[in-house]
Amino acid sequence: MTNPHLQAFERLKAKQFEIGNTSYKERISKLTKLQIAITTTYKSRIREAMLADFGKPILETDLSDIYPVVDEIKKAKKNLPYWMKNKRVRSPLVLFGSNSYIKYEPKGVCLIMSPWNYPVTLTLCPLVSAIAAGNCLVIKPSEISTMASKVMQDIIEDVFNSDEVVLIQGGVETAEQLLALPFNHIFFTGSPSVGKIVMKNAAKHLTSVTLELGGKSPVFIDGSVKVSEISEKITFGKFLNTGQTCIAPDYVLVEQNIVGSLIAEMENTIASFYGKEQKDSKSYGRIISAEHFNRLMELVADAQSKGAEVIQLSPAESENKFFPPTLIVNPSDDMRVMREEIFGPILPIKVYTQLDEAIAYVNANERPLALYIFSESKVNIRHIIANTRAGGTTINHNLLHFLNNELPFGGINNSGIGKSHGYHGFKAFTNERAILNQFTISPVSLIKPPYTKLKQKLIDLMIKYF
Ligand code: NAD
Repeated sequence: MTNPHLQAFERLKAKQFEIGNTSYKERISKLTKLQIAITTTYKSRIREAMLADFGKPILETDLSDIYPVVDEIKKAKKNLPYWMKNKRVRSPLVLFGSNSYIKYEPKGVCLIMSPWNYPVTLTLCPLVSAIAAGNCLVIKPSEISTMASKVMQDIIEDVFNSDEVVLIQGGVETAEQLLALPFNHIFFTGSPSVGKIVMKNAAKHLTSVTLELGGKSPVFIDGSVKVSEISEKITFGKFLNTGQTCIAPDYVLVEQNIVGSLIAEMENTIASFYGKEQKDSKSYGRIISAEHFNRLMELVADAQSKGAEVIQLSPAESENKFFPPTLIVNPSDDMRVMREEIFGPILPIKVYTQLDEAIAYVNANERPLALYIFSESKVNIRHIIANTRAGGTTINHNLLHFLNNELPFGGINNSGIGKSHGYHGFKAFTNERAILNQFTISPVSLIKPPYTKLKQKLIDLMIKYF
């Protein structure tokens, strides 16, 4: 049976050189159209879609699904002439008579697959990079955030020609059909388990991949901090998007002497941010699906049954998928909350007495997408950074490194392969083509068969001096 998406793929493939040879001005004009669509024509529909999909507060949509895309567009528009420009490199003496440069050419026809939790940002930010780099694209957004996928389909059809960008909606079957096609690059954002499926399929065509994955992102808090200051930051970072954030603090490692005050302060902060009845708060969203809601209920029940203290200021309600901010004190390593990515508003708080104990705990697990450090001690900060590995780190706050698109965003091993944002995103969709132009006789051209003693001497000189 022929692949139902082959025709669309072939259409893009036929157009790839025309699109790839567009000037920076043409690409900037497409990005401007996208910017206008997001900030004016479709802005209210994006907000409504997020509210419908998982009760996402409007301000959170603006902050985390509109602002990052607009910021990414602005960055690309400002820098594209420099990013696209051929870069001359020096030539060694043996290559006298030539010049060399790097040409930044698009990879070709690429696939973007995205998750449901920040559906607009995680679909359109890579799209901005791919368009800036001059590619043709197939986009497959999540089948779970249905309303957001529908708005994005309308935006794409409005802004782009169908022989440049197509958005195909569908679930696992559609994803499998797309993954069977020989794309020139796949940019996938989602879970590590599906990331492995993507990479396995990509290997069949040796398609390059960017995998933006997830996992458990730890937070170190040592005894030197001012608890009242950090409580607000962690509460915001953890419960933004109702905890459904890939770089949300997954669990906290806190020095023993301040654990009591941290818990008390966080309870106060939760109440001051979302009120005593958080389900009535306009600043607090919902869980995306009944399946995820039940999974979170099971995580808490598992922790409770194994002896952890569970703190919730109000009870969960399955009818409207309301799951309250939840603290789990002193979790043990066999609890599911310490073994699985939580991806919801549950924060385990694990106590340590020696910093190296906490570092050893983190290093015994998969390398995280994000690792956060709250400390007033420069020595401790340096020690943690030097003795751990992570995709990204924010010091004395959380999430914020995502918002600086000068920084490469991405994971390491289980939390991801490759980087995105700004120039790093442009590079993900770009082939750095090595070009050497020989314009006059070259010393290396003298070395041709038959190989004589004189030529051997020439090589000896090259090795020694050039
Ligand atoms: P997911 O992996 O289930 O789905 C992501 C995409 O893969 C969707 O488009 C989905 O249709 C597709 N998919 C699902 N199962 C598939 C299969 N068997 N074969 C082929 N394709 C399949 O992820 P999700 O539940 O939508 O999102 C949550 C995960 O994404 C978390 O692990 C989170 O940490 C991660 N995430 C990472 C980032 C990042 O930037 N690193 C950002 C957001 C979310």
